[in-house]
Amino acid sequence: MNNIEQNLQDVRTHIAIAAQKCERAPEEITLLAVSKTKPVEDIEKAIAAGQRQFGENYVQEGVEKIAYFANCNDLIWHFIGPLQSNKSRLVAENFNWCHTIDRLKIAQRLNEQRPEGMEPLNILIQINISDERSKSGIQLDELSTLAAEMNKLPNVRLRGLMAIPAPEPDYAHQLAVFRRMEQAFLNLKTKYPQIDTLSMGMTDDMAAAINCGSTLVRIGTAIFGARQYHN
Ligand SMILES: *Cc1c(COP(=O)(O)O)cnc(C)c1O
Repeated sequence: MNNIEQNLQDVRTHIAIAAQKCERAPEEITLLAVSKTKPVEDIEKAIAAGQRQFGENYVQEGVEKIAYFANCNDLIWHFIGPLQSNKSRLVAENFNWCHTIDRLKIAQRLNEQRPEGMEPLNILIQINISDERSKSGIQLDELSTLAAEMNKLPNVRLRGLMAIPAPEPDYAHQLAVFRRMEQAFLNLKTKYPQIDTLSMGMTDDMAAAINCGSTLVRIGTAIFGARQYHN
């Protein structure tokens, strides 16, 4: 068994244990393999081990990988990086999901640029839940207005919320932050029937996220190993 196959198995076990602890079914939680900066050979190993959903942060890199794997038509590609408007067309034309919507203008562009004949692009609103230094994500008090506007766009489908909390020192602090996301998610769900996705939890805070209702964890390091950004 190669490392990536073993790592995937370990991550799936961790998800199952975290789910059991809070009496959730492990199947409620989708594992997104975050393959940014990693070569296509690593993605091939993950595919061979049964992984189908992948997350990418950089538009160009993601588009190249999607083209490389064009013959594997059951893969699902998520864009999870910051999105500038001049790159929105590539996301609209290539990805299945975009997690980082934090203004109406981007959603409108994706809506206009989504090619006819493709399923609507699934989108998540990014919430700036704890990191005041980050410019990404909206504040919770902006959510209901933005969701109402996005819900009118026919070629994008609002599916839920996403957050990248600031690193917290321990489990209790992680829980406190994720609970606020859970509340916002449950509230949004009561207004729109198609809301079903709460994207939160990474390698270091996955268990707390699952305890707070995450339906999709985004895991890079624990599957593919540490990233090197310079080469
Ligand atoms: C890189 C990244 C991840 C994966 O982080 P790990 O700590 O390597 O698991 C998840 N979500 C987003 C938005 C990322 O940019």
